[in-house]
Amino acid sequence: MIYLDYNATTPCDRRVLEAMEPFLKERFENPSSLYRGSRENKKAIEQARQQVARLLSCAPEEIFFTSGGTEADNWAIKSTAWALREKGNHIITSSIEHHAVLNTCAFLVKQGFRITYLPVSAEGIVDLEVLKKAISRETILVTIMHANNEIGTIQPLTEIAGLLKEKGILFHTDAVQTAGKLPLSVKELGVDMLSLSGHKFYGPKGVGALYVRKGWRLPPLLHGGEQEHGRRAGTENVAGIVGLGEAARLAKEEMAEEAVRVRALRDKLEEKIRQSVPEVIFNGHREKRLYNTANLCVKYVEGESMLLHLDFEGICASSGSACTSGSLEPSHVLLALGLPHEVAHGSLRFSLGKYSTESDVEAVAAVLPEIVAKLRAMSPLWPKER
Ligand SMILES: *Cc1c(COP(=O)(O)O)cnc(C)c1O
Repeated sequence: MIYLDYNATTPCDRRVLEAMEPFLKERFENPSSLYRGSRENKKAIEQARQQVARLLSCAPEEIFFTSGGTEADNWAIKSTAWALREKGNHIITSSIEHHAVLNTCAFLVKQGFRITYLPVSAEGIVDLEVLKKAISRETILVTIMHANNEIGTIQPLTEIAGLLKEKGILFHTDAVQTAGKLPLSVKELGVDMLSLSGHKFYGPKGVGALYVRKGWRLPPLLHGGEQEHGRRAGTENVAGIVGLGEAARLAKEEMAEEAVRVRALRDKLEEKIRQSVPEVIFNGHREKRLYNTANLCVKYVEGESMLLHLDFEGICASSGSACTSGSLEPSHVLLALGLPHEVAHGSLRFSLGKYSTESDVEAVAAVLPEIVAKLRAMSPLWPKER
């Protein structure tokens, strides 16, 4: 199998699995209990908290473990909205967010909140002037993702934060696609809240974290026991948290080297496709984007058809996000770039990672041109006389 869908999820690193194993076997004690095993497990959680804090250059007390990126996004947005509802009812986000953000915002509309969805440029970047104009006295929260999961574009968070600080508006970012890939400093980014998820950087599924800046007392979303300083109830997913911590430690150590290697592979893949498949549009900003992501539209072909043929060759890719596959609508991200429906329907995303190799790239380059040619020959849209 050739796996090129790292933005959907990543395999667990072997070292992460090894770190987790004792907590799935003998070290089962509840971290809130009072005997030795419990205290040791509590210590393991606190060590993981430090490891995640180091990844973000923040204090461990600013890290709260969740069940993943979706819960972190829901918590940051809903609890902020409800806590500040007296102050205002306006939230600003972008039109290319992950559905964990978009659908949370849509839910809040039903409760009387007003949401502004900022447009993006053809490269997928939010315009600061447009954001400035969207801010009103009612604005309580801005939530804009760091890097987009489909096209990889990276938003100018520091500049946005500068704008919001003057006005005292809280700033949340979904950094699920950059945590573990890029060096992150929450102070430099200037955000008040940041979501991340373990399974996007070689940790386990079902665990993530929300950074909440010291000084912002975000109320809990989940009520119950006193875990996570009373901010997130529920017996801790000890094995998952330990795995997330180890994944954070490994990422911090190894990301710089990985970035160089993976970028070279991604660039090579794009170049090979550019040379061998005519009428392809490459999506996303050429420089300001994730080094592992290639997103393209192959004109006159359906993305899903290409995926089926790639799957037949043992190649796993995506036509956008895993969360919307199965729906017939083209990607909301590609439509927001201004691509026509019929072009957006022909999208392919290859996202690479630490187990990707030259031969993976060669394999795609070897089969994609034929797949496209075959599908185009059957397409009524393909102008055959050329
Ligand atoms: C995967 C992803 C999420 C969801 O994270 P889960 O841990 O799977 O809930 C949220 N935002 C972005 C940008 C993602 O890529």
